[in-house]
Amino acid sequence: CGIVGFVSSFSPSASDHDALDVVMGGLARLEYRGYDSAGVALVPGDGTLVSRKKSGKLANLTELIEQDPMPQAMTGIGHTRWATHGGPTDRNAHPHLADGGKLALIHNGIIENFAQLKEHLLAEGVEFTSETDTEVAAHQLAKNYRVTEDLTEAMRLLVGQIEGAFTLLAVHADLPGVVVAARRNSPLVIGLGEGENFLGSDVAAFIDHSRKAVEIGQDQIVTITPTSVDIIDAAGAPVAGEPYDVTWDA
Ligand code: GLU
Repeated sequence: CGIVGFVSSFSPSASDHDALDVVMGGLARLEYRGYDSAGVALVPGDGTLVSRKKSGKLANLTELIEQDPMPQAMTGIGHTRWATHGGPTDRNAHPHLADGGKLALIHNGIIENFAQLKEHLLAEGVEFTSETDTEVAAHQLAKNYRVTEDLTEAMRLLVGQIEGAFTLLAVHADLPGVVVAARRNSPLVIGLGEGENFLGSDVAAFIDHSRKAVEIGQDQIVTITPTSVDIIDAAGAPVAGEPYDVTWDA
């Protein structure tokens, strides 16, 4: 339902630049949309990926993280879920992990052809831990990444493989400082910063940090790092994003 992504080049010891703080702040800003579960994934840069997720209010996730703290990080994604496939349980909350827990994916929308894709993945021995349509996209992306060894290209292939409505964000343990995203029939906006960049399902996700935004077009794929924003279309051709000023009183 709500999506936040963040990459920074600044020390996460300042709360303004700590991925968990920025992502949780963005999710709080998106609470007005309604949701039944929430989760986050961080890439601390030591080759690991750390995620926590919990059904219920954001306060439940905060409590879980207090009990089981997360590391400081300069890269993170966060999600609030409005369940469509699979009940509002902890396991069905996003992020969904793949590639042995090294890849995390969050999703707004519905993947219409998830059953066919899941059948293929199950036949290949992939194990599923949720009842969601989203987890299929996570494993398919991991499969594409194994083949392409390029997360952006893996996401581009995924856009050609899935049907329905989606805003997708993915991070990988081996790629600190990178968030890859795509959208179809579901909104995705980039927030431009200085030495850091943001992604959101709407500008509320990053309004406390950036008021320069770029809308992502239908079937486009975006890769953000702290100092770059690259958009391509479904065929892989570069797209020039047009920044605009967000005039919104928070
Ligand atoms: N279809 C996905 C699910 O049920 C995503 C729902 C959403 O947009 O939050 O998990």
